[in-house]
Amino acid sequence: MFVDSHLHLDFDDFAEDREAVMARAAAVGIDAYVNIGIRVRSAARVIAIAERYPNVFCTVGTLPHLADEEADVTAEEIIPLTRHPKVIGIGEVGLDRLYGNADWNTQKRVFSAHIEAAQQTGLPLVIHSVREDDSMSEMLRRAIAEKPFAFVVHAFSGGPLLLKTTLDLGGYFGFGGLLTYRDNEHIRHAAQRVPMDRILLETDSPSMVPAPLEGDRNEPANLLTTATLLAALRGIEIDVLAKASTDNFYRLFSKAGRM
Ligand SMILES: [Zn+2]
Repeated sequence: MFVDSHLHLDFDDFAEDREAVMARAAAVGIDAYVNIGIRVRSAARVIAIAERYPNVFCTVGTLPHLADEEADVTAEEIIPLTRHPKVIGIGEVGLDRLYGNADWNTQKRVFSAHIEAAQQTGLPLVIHSVREDDSMSEMLRRAIAEKPFAFVVHAFSGGPLLLKTTLDLGGYFGFGGLLTYRDNEHIRHAAQRVPMDRILLETDSPSMVPAPLEGDRNEPANLLTTATLLAALRGIEIDVLAKASTDNFYRLFSKAGRM
């Protein structure tokens, strides 16, 4: 059994055939999902999907690309949304000037508001960080020194600094389609070496179709392609990876409980 710990089932890409997509995923052993929020002010949308399916959980947060839209978001606004029983984490949120063009100071302020919500609620933070290892490491170290919180770096793509920071601070590593792309030897290197009890699997569907699959839309059944590669990289059976990554998921996202 696998958990797709990061995807976007509420996106319009799945409006026509969401249940068929979930049936294909179930057929390869995916039995729970975390529908990740990208706008705090559209939390109703991710919560609605989580309410519809017993094995779908969700998070609330502001994607860094959208930080300008929610520049004034506060922990006080986020926290009440997390009281919903299906909201099991905060994010995705973080730093990204490569794929997003939101104001840099606004990205950092919005990230800080989410950190504060994680510190106050005890829910894990789902972090999106692209080529900002220095700033991300500094913000995480400073915030965790003030008041600890749990986190996962989703679609981990960091270099040695963010790898070390995440390890030092007890963070988890989300591995998905990026792991499979030809140029990402550094991600495969990280995935081989991080402790087994820090690994989560994800697809980020509808984005990031794993290689060698092709197509415009990723879907949760494709988690198996990434998992197969990761198990091979570590020289373990896929069942071992499935069990470990699922245990890790329920340890980090403990509000999800065991179904
Ligand atoms: Zn995402």
